[in-house]
Amino acid sequence: MLQVKSVSRSFGDHRVLQDISFDVRPGRMTGFVGANGSGKTTTMRIILGVLAAHGGAVTWRDTPVTQPVRQRFGYMPEERGLYPKMKIAEQITWFARLHGLDQATARRNTDRLLAQLDLTERANEALENLSLGNQQRVQIAAALVHEPEMLILDEPFSGLDPIAVEVVLAVLREHAAAGVPVLFSSHQLELVERLCDDLVILSGGNIAAAGGRDELRGRFGTERFELVVDTDAGWLRDQPDVRIVDIDGPRAVFELSSTAGPQADQEVLRAAMQRGQVRTFAPVIPSLSEIFKEAV
Ligand code: ADP
Repeated sequence: MLQVKSVSRSFGDHRVLQDISFDVRPGRMTGFVGANGSGKTTTMRIILGVLAAHGGAVTWRDTPVTQPVRQRFGYMPEERGLYPKMKIAEQITWFARLHGLDQATARRNTDRLLAQLDLTERANEALENLSLGNQQRVQIAAALVHEPEMLILDEPFSGLDPIAVEVVLAVLREHAAAGVPVLFSSHQLELVERLCDDLVILSGGNIAAAGGRDELRGRFGTERFELVVDTDAGWLRDQPDVRIVDIDGPRAVFELSSTAGPQADQEVLRAAMQRGQVRTFAPVIPSLSEIFKEAV
């Protein structure tokens, strides 16, 4: 497990991170979200030792992260740093060698990743001849080629088309399933919602919420219900304890008032059934953007 413990950092007198703490657990994809400027990149750079913390510590398997430990991390920086004129297979292999792999293993891993990322046919092309989406896939291969023990990816999905997102996602999931903790930032909340097991929400350099995705849904989301009937659902407005969130013809989303009894949802269902057919009656799971709004 990677642990960020009370880390703080300032630039001049601007305190960018204020005593932030969170864990990145093995075998889990941890989504790192927050508005622009909330401190995600700064945190990742501190984990990687690119930037020093002004307080606190980062530990990996309960020991401080030192340079030899970082060598075994995989990092995809926000500012992509590949060589435009170098052939892609050559450069991925070169990154593996930089991390200490022997030539044969470096080549083998390169070939495997190129195949997984659908780049085998482009192996001998210069990076600059590839589309931006494919260059992004190469960047991901470069972060993974040395079989990292821990993965830190700054906006790995930005600029990818939906097919590429699925390809990259499959590769990351495979690493997570093998026990590698994966920390990734993204501003695409729907995507994070689908991918992550755990979430860290940063707001103005503070942790607004951190924990398992489903646990956060329970903690932050207001319980809502969706009702779909055959006819107009307008009568719901007059139902006791009901607060309408959205209503459109036969479909309504509502909340129950805090004073409603434990059977209030069943009473609404009974009232609906007395009026005709009920097509849907189900709790609505709060989306990550709702959790985000509430937490921040
Ligand atoms: P995020 O990745 O969440 O968008 P960043 O970590 O990049 O946020 O930035 C957090 C804050 O720190 C921003 O206000 C940014 O302007 C500031 N910042 C980041 N890097 C530097 C730097 N090298 N010098 C001065 N300010 C910086």
